[in-house]
Order: sequence, then structure tokens, then C-alpha cells
Amino acid sequence: MEKLFSFCKPVKRFMANLNVSKIQMATMKIFTLSFISFLLSTGIYAQPEKAIDVLHYRFQIELSDASDNISGRAELKIRFLKPTNQITLDLGSLTDGKGMTVLSITENDKVIDAIHEEGHLKLQLSENKNIDDTASFVINYKGIPVDGLIISKNKFGHRTFFADNWPNRGHNWLPCHDDPADKASVEFIVTAPQHYQVVANGIQVEETNVTSDMKLTHWKEDTPISTKIMAIGVADFAVNLAGFVDCIPVYSWVYPEERNDGFFDYAQATEILPFFISRVGPYAYKKLANVESKTIFGGLENANTIFYSEKSITGTRTNEDVIAHEIAHQWFGNMATEKSFAHIWLSEGFATYFSLLYFENKYGLDTVKQLLQKNREKTIAYSRESNHPVVDDAETDYMQLLNANSYEKGGWILHMLRRQLGDTLFWKAIRQYYATYAGKNADTDDLRKIVEKVSGRNFQTFFKQWLYEAGQPELSISWKNGNDKKLSVTVTQKQQTPFIFPLEIGLKTKSGKINIEKLDITRKEQTFSLPAREKIAGIIADPNTNLLFEIKFNSGK
Ligand SMILES: [Zn+2]
Repeated sequence: MEKLFSFCKPVKRFMANLNVSKIQMATMKIFTLSFISFLLSTGIYAQPEKAIDVLHYRFQIELSDASDNISGRAELKIRFLKPTNQITLDLGSLTDGKGMTVLSITENDKVIDAIHEEGHLKLQLSENKNIDDTASFVINYKGIPVDGLIISKNKFGHRTFFADNWPNRGHNWLPCHDDPADKASVEFIVTAPQHYQVVANGIQVEETNVTSDMKLTHWKEDTPISTKIMAIGVADFAVNLAGFVDCIPVYSWVYPEERNDGFFDYAQATEILPFFISRVGPYAYKKLANVESKTIFGGLENANTIFYSEKSITGTRTNEDVIAHEIAHQWFGNMATEKSFAHIWLSEGFATYFSLLYFENKYGLDTVKQLLQKNREKTIAYSRESNHPVVDDAETDYMQLLNANSYEKGGWILHMLRRQLGDTLFWKAIRQYYATYAGKNADTDDLRKIVEKVSGRNFQTFFKQWLYEAGQPELSISWKNGNDKKLSVTVTQKQQTPFIFPLEIGLKTKSGKINIEKLDITRKEQTFSLPAREKIAGIIADPNTNLLFEIKFNSGK
């Protein structure tokens, strides 16, 4: 995902309201009271455990122009991960007239009892399940989505419907297991007024005018994906096939009013996609659609159906970085996915850095150095307002994780890792990480183990200091020309916990030459004696932009 603005947080939308309203109590009447008291006595109201693995979702959604009410039929094929006779799904419940109302639930065609409240749907199963048993559930429901499916007007005043599920907002309109660690294949069968076109994950398998004014569109995604990147977009679109990359069709879906500019801008995807395929591994999906949308983010990496903000089209290709970022997510975040949002940098830090790697390949290293310097400034500024580490288990509002730690610092950590490994081993580690975790979930330690295996070196300290501790080195450098053709350099770390890192310094001679020396910084304060044939006029700390650090003082004579 791309933040809408560099320094601001995305517009917050309301999460499922946790209060049980009178209306919601009324809807609960469809369920038996004895089951409610049973649940209360067993304490099932606690947070749901990972008892299930959803294998497949089939969502049939009906949309209309007359109201924002949607009508849904969700079919879920579920595998059980532990013996149980009850499970919990996520589904936004009714509050103040908005939210979802469940009409009926069946398990393998048998009606079952359930409680729907506080954004959860607790199902009493027809019989005890054992590990690896499977069952199919059908849930009929309706309501006005509070969030997750944005029903509104686009910038040209036309009605549109856009899913915006990240991070766990999908359950506001879809009964699901709203957890990035549970991936499933998915089908969307959308019935909407005929003037709309519908885009969704996967490939389109049907489009039929079912009545004189309604059209059914069926999209099918066979590759398992997390709910955070499941999406439909329903609007009046102009659609263009921008080209094929390795037989993958790349489409642009934009508002008809700006089809020329939109097709021109989004066609950059055909240039970006081959870079990631060649560097990381094959593209996992059957198409790539770049879609103009009402997402609250600058861009949202929905699997093979990337949504961009309405501001993304300029006709001058000014958002190449956003397109590269979202395409990088198709590998990192979508296929190799973080185990939990605490490890979100495995999505956002990777997408940030891989966008830079694409820029380095296209525009050269000097362009990237400037971008890295900007990212370093953002990281330092953020560290002044937050002393959280990148891997942040404490944050429960996932929107707050869209910060400079996850993006800019995460990207910087990959840059430093690349410099420590060298390009050959870095790319070997990246490809190995992707090959191991594509289709699965990983955490930060899983990445460390791959890096150590590929390099044969210990990276415990590197991962610990950069990812599990807050801040970065704050350096004071003082130097003195000696009479014995030696230069004395003292490096002091001003922050509380010293870091261990290589520091490059550029020694500027009076004749204007710059010689680079590498110092191994391992302690709070160290003095180095360096050979200097000429007197030194100044020292440039990190002249090649390879270290995340802050310079507090740099002086000498
Ligand atoms: Zn992103």
C-alpha cells in the first residue's frame, strides 16, 4: 500500500462498531436463546483462536443504484485446525442501521445456530469436527457496509463501488476469516445494473445480462490470497489492454473521462513488471489490472487488481514510484505475506525498497541516493515522535503501522542488508526468501534464517538492533591531523544503546581528492588512527549513502 501523502496518515474510516445495538439484538432473534447462554457460560466471547483454515470463498454480491444495501451469499469451504464444535468468523454487525444482518446459515445444507455480534459470527457446528475435517457453509446476509466496500460517487460525480479491505476491513461486507495468515482462493459473482463494469481478483469467467437491466460478472482467483487483498471494483470504466508481459495481460481500468491520460500513465506497468519477474521470480497471477478507484490509500496492492487513488492519473507519469511499489507488493505482501501485522515491514519496507531498486535500474544510483537520503530524513523525524521498533507487537490499530518505520526504515534496512551481503548474495537471499514463502506467511526471523543460510554468516545482531530496537545511530565525529602522516578519528555514538555497523568516511584532502575509509563501529566511542599522506581538510560521513544514521557533530583540524 502506498500512503496517500508522505507525512500524513491515511484518512481513517470507521471500523466495525463494537456496541450491540437494539436493532442488532433484534436481528439476533433468529438464533436460539439456549445457544446464547451456552456461549456465555463457555466464555467464547474471548478473541477467536486460529481454529480454521478457509480454503475457498465464493461470494455472490448484488448491488443496486436504488440504495447502498447489498445482498450477499457467501459460500466458505473450511478446514478445521483443531477438534471443535464451534467456530468464529468475522462479519461486521448492525449498528445504527448500518452493517450486516445475517438471514440464514447452513453447514453442508443443514441449518445451524449462530450468534452475530461485535463483528463476529459465532457458529455452532452440527457435529464435532476433527483436525483436517472440512465443511461447507453458506451464509445469506444483507446490509449497508459501514466500511470495506466504499459505495460513493467518484470525482466525476458517478456512483461507484470499490472494495478497500486492508488491513482487516473486509469483514465489514464479507463473512470471512479476516486474518492475513489465512489465504484462500476466491470467486466474486457480482450482479449489478448493466451500465457498470466489474473488475475483481483473478480472471473473468462469465459476463451475462441476466435481466433487462442487470448484469452478472464472475471473476475467479485460484491462487490463495489473504482477505486484505481481495477486491471488487464496480464503476463505469474505460478498459485498455496495455500489453502482455510473459503472456500475462496487463490492463488499465480508468474512468472514461480521463481514458487517454489514464491509459498512458498506467501503461508504465508493462515496463515495471518485467523487472520484478527477472529479479525475484515468476509473477504468480494470471493478469494484472491497474485500476483507478476510491481507495483511501494512495494505492492498494489488491492481488493482481491494484487500486490507485483518483489522484494517481496526471497524464505525465508522475506516479511511477507508486505503480512500482504496488507491483512489488504482488511478490512481497501478496504472495510472501507477513504472519501478522507486527511484521508489516516485510510488505511495506520491501515494496518501498523494491520500488527504489527499479528506479536504480532505470535512472541510476545517483537518483536512488537522493531518494534514500529523503527516506533517511523521514525515518529520523519519525524516530523523534515514536520510540517503537519496526517490528511492533504493541500496536493494535493496524492503520498506525502505516508509518516511516514500516516503509522508509524497512526499506533502509534492506539497503544496508544489501550492502553487507553484496549484490550477488543479496539477490540470492531475496529469491530464496520468495521461493520459500510464496503462497505462505513469514515473519522477520524467517527472513533472518534465509539470509544466514545463504551467506553462512550470523545476522542476529543486525536484525535485533535494526528491527527489534527503536532509533538509529546518532554520531559525533571529531578528527585531528597528526604530524606523523596519521589522521586520528574519534566516533562517538550519542544514542543510549550502541549499534554495531560499518561506517564509511570520505577523507577530503586539501587538493580536493576524496579517499574512502571503512571503520568497524562496535562500541560507544572508538578512536581510529588512519594513514594520511596529505593533510585532511574535512570528513564526509557515509559519502555513498549506505547507512541509516544521524550526524550530530562533525569537526576537526
Ligand atoms: Zn505498500
